[in-house]
Amino acid sequence: MTAAGHRSSDRGPEGELGRLARRLGPLDDEWRDGAACKGLPAGAFFPERGELPAAEVLGVCRSCPVRRPCLEYALATGDPGVWGGTTAKERRRLRRGSAA
Ligand code: SF4
Repeated sequence: MTAAGHRSSDRGPEGELGRLARRLGPLDDEWRDGAACKGLPAGAFFPERGELPAAEVLGVCRSCPVRRPCLEYALATGDPGVWGGTTAKERRRLRRGSAA
């Protein structure tokens, strides 16, 4: 273990630094400024496990001008909740589809 606390295996794309980079997503996150959900209760976008988001939440996403970068962010990070008008389950399907 180094002074920084990273193992050498953490330096590759599958290591801790790679995971951190994926979680951070694109460094340019100015898209968030245009988010239609800005100021709405965040909890509505993070339904309990196994529950579907409310139709109103998905409706907000449908008219959101930054839906695409939002979805790209979530696909890159694997964050839970509603992003880009999709649920985490839908994004898992998208990822599997793009890997095939
Ligand atoms: S697409 Fe939905 S979750 Fe993403 S920024 Fe827009 S309103 Fe928010």
